[in-house]
Amino acid sequence: MAKGKENPVISTLWSAGCGSHGGCGCEIYVKDGKVTRIEGDKNHPFNQGRLCAKGLAVSQYMYHPDRVLYPLKRVGERGEGKWQQISWDEAYDTIEKKFKDIRAKHGAESVIFCQGTGRDIGGPITFLMYAYGSPNWVQVGLAGHACYTPRLGAMFATHGNYCVADCSQFLEKRYDSPEWTPPKYIIIWAQNPAAGCHDGFYGHWIIDCMKRGSKLITIDPRATWFSTRSELHLQNRPGTDGIIALAMLNVIINEGIYDKAFVEKWCYGFDELKERVQEYTPEKAEEISWVPADLIRQAARLYANNKPSAIQWGEPVDAMPAGSVVAQAITQLWSITGNIDNPGGNVIAINSHGVTTYPFSSAELTDLYGADLVKKLNEKRIGANDYPMIKNFRGWVQPDVLMEQMETGKPYPVKGAWIQTSNIIGGQAADPRRHYEAMKKLDFIVCVDIFQTPTTMALADIFLPVCSICEKESFRSWWQPLGVSVKAIPNIGESKSDWEINLEMAKRLATTPVKFNTVRELIDDRLSAGNTNFDKLKAKGGWEYPPVGHRTRPYYRYEKGLLRKDGKPGFETPTGKVELYSKKYEEWGLDPLPYYEEPKESPTATPEMAEKYPLILTTGRRSPVFFHSEHRMIPWLRELDPFPVAEINDKTAASLGIGDGDWVYVENTHGKIKMKAKVTPSSHPKVVSVPHGWWLPETDGRAPNFFSTWDHNVNNLTSMGNQGKSGFGGTNYRSGLCRVQKISGEKE
Ligand code: SF4
Repeated sequence: MAKGKENPVISTLWSAGCGSHGGCGCEIYVKDGKVTRIEGDKNHPFNQGRLCAKGLAVSQYMYHPDRVLYPLKRVGERGEGKWQQISWDEAYDTIEKKFKDIRAKHGAESVIFCQGTGRDIGGPITFLMYAYGSPNWVQVGLAGHACYTPRLGAMFATHGNYCVADCSQFLEKRYDSPEWTPPKYIIIWAQNPAAGCHDGFYGHWIIDCMKRGSKLITIDPRATWFSTRSELHLQNRPGTDGIIALAMLNVIINEGIYDKAFVEKWCYGFDELKERVQEYTPEKAEEISWVPADLIRQAARLYANNKPSAIQWGEPVDAMPAGSVVAQAITQLWSITGNIDNPGGNVIAINSHGVTTYPFSSAELTDLYGADLVKKLNEKRIGANDYPMIKNFRGWVQPDVLMEQMETGKPYPVKGAWIQTSNIIGGQAADPRRHYEAMKKLDFIVCVDIFQTPTTMALADIFLPVCSICEKESFRSWWQPLGVSVKAIPNIGESKSDWEINLEMAKRLATTPVKFNTVRELIDDRLSAGNTNFDKLKAKGGWEYPPVGHRTRPYYRYEKGLLRKDGKPGFETPTGKVELYSKKYEEWGLDPLPYYEEPKESPTATPEMAEKYPLILTTGRRSPVFFHSEHRMIPWLRELDPFPVAEINDKTAASLGIGDGDWVYVENTHGKIKMKAKVTPSSHPKVVSVPHGWWLPETDGRAPNFFSTWDHNVNNLTSMGNQGKSGFGGTNYRSGLCRVQKISGEKE
């Protein structure tokens, strides 16, 4: 690379730095071995030159003075903040010894492997966990697995694959692709895509579609940029999305505006669904959801009568008491209207070229290792035997059951934790104090991260420093395209990539020899499913779409025999059809048809509680400049969103004597937190909307303060143990109760 000159390296962003799951193509500009700036790659079809603020700020993240650059060993008590720098050899040796001791005394299952959603982490962490022999892979404290997994499970059960609104993202020529058509309507359901976590979907794609004629319907308790540009805004009570979906099904079925030919040929259980939705009239839905019946009818008619149309949904769907049931009902909307795997509808999303970073689903694990290993893992996997859907759908631990098991030690004790990309105490976990009390009693905890967080300060015995996206090689295969992340500069300090760390630990801890010597060998092994390798993809500009006719490329694959393992036309379900009456749910002991369940805390479910706490609390409002609990220390980003802010309706605020910018307590039966009030008419008068993951890295990180996480993290107002019947979905993340009160005399 020319010295003294700024040279671009073409790469893919999907990891430490910007953090989200997006996968933007980027140009990393390097001068004299240092990253000077990052810009969007105009040639990358996914983001077409655009990057969000987090991507643009990656250099501030990489060169931040608080970044941890060397392995650390705790030398004081947990929480005292006393650390000693150690070598990688000492760190690896210590972890190897401790984890082997735990395995010998208590079994490998006594170590849990804990991830958040940041970085390209799913692959490395499961790779290490299976090598060690533990079945316990978990997002600790994510009550009811309420982030995407309930939706994935519902789609898996209904039509065998995942779906996403089609904004042409599966085709390299994007909006110019001749086989693509813009959706006539896009329903934006419980999401603000401009600020979301980019689960393989970008808000600007909706704007691109709007420019090509797409119209919008928004279903959201909050007014957003998109809702104000929508033909209809269904401003519902948080937690009632399920009854809106059921009422829309009622209208579409009873008015006969579904796709009769598609239903006749490709759906199973239509009559049963028709019977079930009769009780869910728009009038009943109005009583429960606050949305006028007429608006629900209009939304159903516009969606069904204008094909193709698409639905783009968000995480609140998962956070209902019956997340996997709400998702099932929404999935049925695109199914009975024939808006599945059609251009401009909801397109089936399969990992690009069939490449996976590591096997996550039970089916993939069975393919790779055989049914015996999966059976063995399931015997000890926490929560698997309580919930058949957990056992048979995805290899996760059930987090609410884990919470109890950490406290009781039954049926076996949890002794150790490997925590990678996860800020349990400061962001991820519901009821973080309960998690803190339980986890600080574990014998040995390793944290792998970039910065100290409330979690690393409270729990880590060993801290392993990882590098940013610009310092490592990785790959991304989630949906499309298949892409590689290219190492642009040498690692800063002694940091290493997650893949490097986990490969080294896997070699030391595995019970059978690991077949890879280097990370590159491992990456190439995964990419070989797509008949490619790292160097080939890099030489092609860093990404590739599958060829025409490939099973991971749309459209109408159910007609062509591209979805089922047996190669027959149809969907990968027991009946080969879209199962409106779900055989899988039935097999798992669940109701095969959708129904409505009231949130656990609400004016109707808990009226006495509502007298004391009269407002609906909805948490997890996304900021466009932060990824969950990350980035609060990045100057450019913090300047854009400096405080934890509760949105309160202007009339409600006036009645409580609260002015814009006042500090307030948001309080419920679980406790209280401090937020700055944003007084706004865009909020429903009965709803308070609060962001998640707030802690203040500029404050004292030691116990008991832990960067002020107890004061500002809204998860202090949430609880564990409210999971849905499937083990998925639940708690009061999106629909709890609260009151708000001004804090007198509080200064900034
Ligand atoms: S955080 Fe922003 S820049 Fe990074 S991948 Fe996601 S959308 Fe792209």
